[in-house]
Amino acid sequence: MCGIVGYIGRRQAAPILLAGLKKLEYRGYDSAGVAVRGEGGIRVEKTEGRLARLVEKTEGGASLSGTVGIGHTRWATHGAPSEENAHPHLSDGERVTVVHNGILENFRELKQKLTAEGYVFHSETDSEVIADLIDYYLKKSGDPVTAICRFMQRARGSYALGVLFSDRPDEVFVARKDSPMILGVGKGEMFVASDVPALLGETRTVYYIDNLEAAVIRREGAVFYNIDGNVIEKQSVEVTMDASAAEKDGWEHFMIKEVHEQPRAVADTLSRYMKEGRADFSEAGIGEEEFSAERIVITACGSAYHVGVTLQYVIESLARVPVRVELASEMRYRDLVYGENCLVIAISQSGETADTLAALREAKAHGVRTVAIVNVQGSSVSREADRTIFTVAGPEIAVATTKAYSAQLAAGYLFALELARRKGTVSEEAYAGYIKELLSLPEKIKRVLERKEAIGSFAARHQTMRDVFMIGRGVDYSVCLEGSLKLKEISYVHTEAYAAGELKHGTISLIEEGTVVVGLLLQPRVREKTASNLEEVRSRGAHVVAMVFEGEKAEGAAEVWEIPKTEELFAASVAVVPLQLLAYYVSLQRGLDVDKPRNLAKSVTVE
Ligand code: GLU
Repeated sequence: MCGIVGYIGRRQAAPILLAGLKKLEYRGYDSAGVAVRGEGGIRVEKTEGRLARLVEKTEGGASLSGTVGIGHTRWATHGAPSEENAHPHLSDGERVTVVHNGILENFRELKQKLTAEGYVFHSETDSEVIADLIDYYLKKSGDPVTAICRFMQRARGSYALGVLFSDRPDEVFVARKDSPMILGVGKGEMFVASDVPALLGETRTVYYIDNLEAAVIRREGAVFYNIDGNVIEKQSVEVTMDASAAEKDGWEHFMIKEVHEQPRAVADTLSRYMKEGRADFSEAGIGEEEFSAERIVITACGSAYHVGVTLQYVIESLARVPVRVELASEMRYRDLVYGENCLVIAISQSGETADTLAALREAKAHGVRTVAIVNVQGSSVSREADRTIFTVAGPEIAVATTKAYSAQLAAGYLFALELARRKGTVSEEAYAGYIKELLSLPEKIKRVLERKEAIGSFAARHQTMRDVFMIGRGVDYSVCLEGSLKLKEISYVHTEAYAAGELKHGTISLIEEGTVVVGLLLQPRVREKTASNLEEVRSRGAHVVAMVFEGEKAEGAAEVWEIPKTEELFAASVAVVPLQLLAYYVSLQRGLDVDKPRNLAKSVTVE
């Protein structure tokens, strides 16, 4: 899970590679490196740590002269983040230079074989084995494309590869399986990148490379190959993504910028799948086949999983269709009983989440119909699912998701409503009411954002808090899961989300004088129940924060956070905002790296 870039043209490659890597830094950032082909051959520079160090070391790229190159920011999977393990990696003998995103699963076995052939290794990475294996096949076949295809036939695992061969000065080679990679087309120049934002400053014409495909890239274009080395035809596409959306626009962090983009992300997602005041998924090709499902399994990871938990409550309540939510990392290895007429919904911001992709494939292997909810066009999940609902959140750069989460919820609500309409479980009048409520969400989110200072002040007062519990019932509980994850991810505070009624079955023993407990009281049916649970922790010393709808009271709470009155089934969309802000401000108070929290990467393309 890293960023890969490549360039071949007439301009100096290094500054272009570094600029592209900067845009991809969110994908991985524990070390970085570039290889540039100049007069004297291929020169590699790499550093441990952030990309800024590589920029400094190469004087912004000025110290590396040449018009062909590849670059990488790493998120280590095999071997510590160190200079030796940073990419690019050279084959023994230095004929092949490789940057790799992914994991070569059979690297041990291959390393043993290559060692027996006399190869010597200089790093602990799986990626170095790729450089040597390609070199091995190059020696046998004498042809780079054949060598790469033989590698693809032999490799297990995932890869996006950028490759330079020492005796092919005017070509960059790429190959891909289960890790993202695109090519950008310029005038007399070509670009390689893991993701669209890295290319937007240069071109909008791109080729998507599919699984088990390779390409030879020259200044004037690319030739594509399948795994057998046969030439294949590909059409370029124009991307419409807004380049400025991938920049910070004066905000201090991407996260807070993206938090403020939520009203738009929700509004845009709703409007994409609505026509004349009604949910309409015809653009996505979703119709009778999907909506006749009698059972739904939602699969996802992290925050997208929390969206699934919310949607489970919403779909069951509105459409009376049984829903099960499965962590993708679990689903892929268990013997799930799908049953008759089941629909699997896979949710992923990047559409490259390895576990979600595997769970999707597992469902497809059982002949189950699949729908994806993803943010990134052309991503693997979207291409492999039978149907895709695209959230319209724009590029999300901060590692901790906010606007993509909110857009996923919005897409899910519409899906639930359309399902309910077709199942006949909501009256026409109720349907219209729900639609009205949905359309009011962006404005309500805005109103919460206008009061962000109150959360900032709470964060300043409680920045040293050690343990935080978030409790609620139903949809409120699902928001607690997300709020708690945000606080863990970027503020490094230990938090637990608990179904309010569950606390007393053990966890309440952790409540001490001053422990912060945030309780959500947004579900009228169970409001009193959760209020009692808050009373239980308050009497054991907890500092209770209650989240309520405007004008409602919360007896005994030390602090009350009010949010605009919202239809209870859709409360997650509004209630999550104060919790996102809490995580943001605590992280800020603690002087942490909000957008790039330790040990994490944005798009988790490894198991
Ligand atoms: N598996 C490789 C490594 O650990 C690549 C990781 C990445 O995608 O950044 O170096």
